[in-house]
Order: sequence, then C-alpha cells, then structure tokens
Amino acid sequence: MKPKTLHSQSPSKPRKPPHLQGAMIYFDHNATSPLHPSAREAWLAAVEQFPGNPSSPHRFGSRAANALQRAREQLARILNCHPLDILWTSGATEANNLALFHFGQTLPSNAEVWISSVEHPCLLAPSKRHLGTRVRFIPVQRNGQVDLHWISTRLHKKPPSLIALMAANNETGVIQPWQELLKLTAPYEIPVFCDAVQWLGRMPSHALGQCDWISGCAHKFGGPRGTGFLKCAPNTKLHGQIIGGEQEDGRRAGTENVAGVMAMMGVLCTREEEMKKVLTEEKTQERERIEQRLLQLLPGSKLIGKSAPRLWNTIAMLMPQTDCQQRWVVKLDKAGFAVSTGSACSSGKEKASHVITAMGYTPSEAGRMIRISSQWETSPNDWNALIEAMAKINAVL
Ligand code: PLP
Repeated sequence: MKPKTLHSQSPSKPRKPPHLQGAMIYFDHNATSPLHPSAREAWLAAVEQFPGNPSSPHRFGSRAANALQRAREQLARILNCHPLDILWTSGATEANNLALFHFGQTLPSNAEVWISSVEHPCLLAPSKRHLGTRVRFIPVQRNGQVDLHWISTRLHKKPPSLIALMAANNETGVIQPWQELLKLTAPYEIPVFCDAVQWLGRMPSHALGQCDWISGCAHKFGGPRGTGFLKCAPNTKLHGQIIGGEQEDGRRAGTENVAGVMAMMGVLCTREEEMKKVLTEEKTQERERIEQRLLQLLPGSKLIGKSAPRLWNTIAMLMPQTDCQQRWVVKLDKAGFAVSTGSACSSGKEKASHVITAMGYTPSEAGRMIRISSQWETSPNDWNALIEAMAKINAVL
C-alpha cells in the first residue's frame, strides 16, 4: 500500500497552491517525521495484542515480554549485533545520556574521551556533565567531516578510552567517516560510540553493528516520538541512570513502551525493505539536481558541506547575504512549507549553531543557514512547489 502522508499527492492530479490546500508541505524530517502508516498499524496491533506489562508474571505479561524480545532480535539483525546488547529507551536523548552517565561512572579519572565537536547537544551536554575535563573535542574540517588526521596522529601517543562520532549530522546531513574511524581504532581496541539517529531508516544499517555503542530513535524515520534504543558494547555491565525497577535486565528502570517499540520496528523494517528497491545513490543524485536548481535560482547562496558525502534527504544552505534565515523560514511557512534553521539569526537572541561555527563559518554566516530535510515519501511535485515558492520569495526580497 502506498503510504499517504501530510504532503504526498498523486502526480496526475493538478495541484493547488499549498496555502489553498490548507496543508503544509513538510520539509523538516530531521526534526521529526510524521507517523508512517506501517508504524501506526504496528502500534494499533500491539495495543490490542499486548495489553499486559512485560514484567507481569501472567500470560499477558509474558506475551508482551516475548514481543519485546522478538523486536530486539529484529533490530539486532538489522544492526548486525547481539540482541542482548540492545535496551529500549524513551529516545536518543535518553540513550545518549545513559551511555555518557555509564562512561562517567566507569572510566578512570585520568581517561580521555574524544568527542566530535558537531555532536547533538544531547550528547555534548551529558559528556560535559559526566566526564568533565576527561573530554577532548575532535575538530571538523570545513566540509563538516571530522578530522581523521587529527585522530590518527594522536592515537599512538595516548589512545583515548572512547571515541564518539555520529553517523550523520542532523543540521547539515554530512555523513561522518565512522567506518574509516572503526578501521583506525581497531588495532588500539578503542570503543566507538555512534549516534545513528539521522542515519537509521535512511541508509542501510547493517554495518552499524561494528560500532561498540549505538543510539537511535524512531521519530526521524516515521516511528513514534518517545521511543528509541541503546546498543551497548558486548558484555557491558551498564551503570543504569534511571533506577527503581529491574526492567531491561536491570539496565533501565520503567515499564517498557511495547507498542512504541513495535511501531518503531514496523517502520524500520519497511524502510530497510525500501532501500533494497530504491538505491540511496539515486536519491543522492536527485538531491544534487535539486541543489543545482536552488543555487541557480538564489544567486549568492551556498551549500554547506558541499564537498562531503551527505544524507540524500538533507540540504543545508547559506541563504543570500541580504536576508537572514528566520525571514526565509517565516515566509516559507506562510507560503505553506515547513523548513528549518540550523541556528537563529545572528541578530537574534539565540546563539549561532555550534555545528556551523565548528566548520569555520562566522556566527553571522551561521545565521543565514536554512535546512531542508525530506523523507522517502517527498514527491517531485513537493520539491517543484518548494522551489517555485523560494523563487517567488527571492524575487520580492
Ligand atoms: N541525536 C541526533 C543526531 C538528533 O538529531 C536527535 C534529535 O534531534 C537526537 C539525538 C535526540 O533524539 P530524541 O528526539 O529521540 O531524544
């Protein structure tokens, strides 16, 4: 069944301008994505089939516990890891906090942890809190990719106890060289932590299991918000952060969100199947064609992370000098399109994005960035309508 979304329309139907349809065309999937029909279906089925608490001793309880176990095995097959290393969480913020709490508790006081400077704040903030001066930030290059030379030249001097590098950046879509990092760190047996939030459901995930630690969540690829997971290194005795219950083998207290997990796995399996039919390389070429049209249309605009491999769904652009991103976002919103900013206007109160400034852009340049992020369901009509709207806005700026 073809999924119906906020924005898809059959290409044969003449399209009304978005503001007349009363519906937004949604280009902010890196923030969150609407619930996919396969997730909804799995969620509704789970609510009916598994009314029990997975910790309860009766049949309802064991059915729910078995369903969670099957889902764990399913995710382990997708990630290519052991099911027992996976625990369910309320999302990636919790998973990142939990992992950093664990490292803070278990690593010696003279240990070093290297963390890429463009990680999501939900990894950066707990790393500062739990590891303090044990953290060193890995610089990124102008194209947004972490500096592997910085890593390789330091590895042999004093290898760190852990390296954290996200799979793909949420603001720029830049794909990080996590597979190369795994090769570099293997001889030193340094554990690698990978926040795979923006990668999952968009890129094939089988190789991710080589990372010792992985965090993920459902709502970036069509699952429900408030559902995610942490995959730990094999045989880890995790120091739980949320305590007061023996759920998840004592690693995370609190009744599990069975329906949420079922919904997440329902859509993740759908996405993995989609990736067998539609190659991500084709989607990347489609993105490149759109970028060329936008660059021609908006003289003075620039692509962020241009020379780096980037997720097929994300375009991060510096808008022409004359205007700041907030105005673009507001104007596009009025025209019926939801896009996002990487950071607020430099003249505004909020700070410039740490991601864009780490790439060497000035705070004022960072204030001109907008992020357009699509999903599998985004149609050529949706893109054409957005490009048309941007041309109209640019003409009257
Ligand atoms: N990590 C990355 C890279 C993200 O983009 C996000 C969400 O924006 C998170 C972590 C947090 O995920 P969640 O919303 O599930 O807490």
